Amino acid sequence: MKMSKMYIRTLREAPAEAVVPSHILMLRAGMIRKIVSGIYGFMPLGYRVLRKVENIVREEMDAAGGQEILMSALQPAELWQESGRWGDYGPEMWRIKDRNGREFCLGPTHEEIFTDIIRNEVSSYRQLPVNLYQIQHKYRDEARPRFGLMRSREFVMKDAYSFDRDEESLNESYQNMYDTYTRIFNRCGLEFRPVEADTGAIGGSASHEFQALTENGESTIAFCEKCDYAATDESAVCVDAPASNEEMLPLEKKSTPGTKTIEAVANYLDLPQSRTIKALLYETYDEEGSVTGYVAAFIRGDRQANETKLINALGINEYQLAFANEEKMAAVTGCVGGFTGPKGLHDCKIIVDSELPGLRNLCAGANEADCHYINMNYGRDYEADMIVNFKLVGEGDVCPECGAPLKFKRGMEVGQVFKLGTKYSKAMGAVYKDENMKEHEIVMGCYGIGVTRTLSAIVEQHHDDNGIIWPVSVAPYHVIVTVVKQKDEEAMDLADRLEKELSAKGVEVMVDDRDERPGVKFKDADLLGIPVRITVGKKAAEGIVEYRLRTDDQSVELPVGEAVAKAAAFISEGLSH
Ligand code: ATP
Ligand code: MG
Repeated sequence: MKMSKMYIRTLREAPAEAVVPSHILMLRAGMIRKIVSGIYGFMPLGYRVLRKVENIVREEMDAAGGQEILMSALQPAELWQESGRWGDYGPEMWRIKDRNGREFCLGPTHEEIFTDIIRNEVSSYRQLPVNLYQIQHKYRDEARPRFGLMRSREFVMKDAYSFDRDEESLNESYQNMYDTYTRIFNRCGLEFRPVEADTGAIGGSASHEFQALTENGESTIAFCEKCDYAATDESAVCVDAPASNEEMLPLEKKSTPGTKTIEAVANYLDLPQSRTIKALLYETYDEEGSVTGYVAAFIRGDRQANETKLINALGINEYQLAFANEEKMAAVTGCVGGFTGPKGLHDCKIIVDSELPGLRNLCAGANEADCHYINMNYGRDYEADMIVNFKLVGEGDVCPECGAPLKFKRGMEVGQVFKLGTKYSKAMGAVYKDENMKEHEIVMGCYGIGVTRTLSAIVEQHHDDNGIIWPVSVAPYHVIVTVVKQKDEEAMDLADRLEKELSAKGVEVMVDDRDERPGVKFKDADLLGIPVRITVGKKAAEGIVEYRLRTDDQSVELPVGEAVAKAAAFISEGLSH
């Protein structure tokens, strides 16, 4: 296609709010346009990339036995009320009413809809297993939409749901999707890592996230170099320190004026921070946002808390936990800001981290201003309502599998696979009859890919200072033919010939025949990230062109026939894996 006829608007500068390369470059290349915060439109070249990623997903899902369907993005509240998630989902859900006041949401995900279809249409074991998927816009009113397509409020997701008769069959479906995701992300040219993931309040079942490795990703991955343990930091297990065999010393109250932080009290009493207990004060909310109670969580002073684990242990949703208003909590529970300890608190849930009971003679707040206890011991001096391992793993902590030190990397979650079990089939009555006409709940799995986020991940991993470097498999066009002097007829003839011959070999070609200076054309070709550039320049009359890969600095002069053969071979190689 001739660029003079295409709608492409590149920008010299991206708006200041764009701070990560993928956002900056996709805006500058005119591939996406912002509508409002977190909502983007796809322009012609961007849409071509999106469709290519979608098609890779589609081909691999179909090859794995999935069947594509398309449900509505609009979902009636009733289905979500049945599963119990209408309340659970919280402020991320876009809720709307029709003209008669009936409630709907714009689907953030589709478990309810798919379960509803299956419960109405599947009744026998003979109809199982089933894997249905769709590629569709999802809506989440994210608290902090940012980084362009990385965290947006409207995004394209591929969501698949598997329905099996038992756990064993689910395990097969799950492995099938896991392997399919591996193929999909390989074909998209991503460097990624599947890691163990948090399963949320559902608990028990397995889940993996597929993390594209990139500095600008929002996830932290903990991994072991010695064994293959890898998990997101929110799901990684932080191993308890070994229990101490010290004698319990007598509990003693100490005056510790003004020592409101762990650092201050440890310095004042000349203790390592690992001999102190840190208090974290939370309040919990119901679905309407009213405070339902207080939680005091205690952890070794030098550790960080993993709130996901607290939330899971409490069996609530993320939006139902926040740091407490200390004054209000103090009035109810007797805590004292900066001097809170587990002894003497009342009317709140006390959660103690799993390693504290094994440790001896620790220092903790005395629930009295300017006072701490020393030689606090679990069992003798304080107790817990819940003992939970809610320590956040730190770099260098020991691997829970083999004991070697853990390393950290940044990643971007591009997909997640999940063994759901019977959560939805139980709540919504999706059952089948076995060979003996006995009824069972259908065992489910769900599998998401952030299709638009995958575009961000690809650009994060494939770019340089001049622009995007698309992998061949997802490039909007494979080859750009840059005509230096579009008014030169011989040059344009040669460009036409290149376009024809390459197209005949299945190569997608755009010809830059615009009335622009060559410098502008070269800059745009680099910015757009087309994998191969063939320049028709000075030696056009001799049938000689310049051939350059987007990844190379140098171009080589080649007779036009050779350039065609070389480009076609390069593209077909790029498409073959
Ligand atoms: P996150 O933890 O990043 O908010 P999630 O775990 O809530 O994502 P899932 O429910 O697992 O997301 O959705 C499946 C996939 O959809 C994710 O793996 C991710 O790639 C993509 N995704 C989720 N939220 C967004 C978003 N706001 N913008 C773009 N893609 C998203
Ligand atoms: Mg996820």
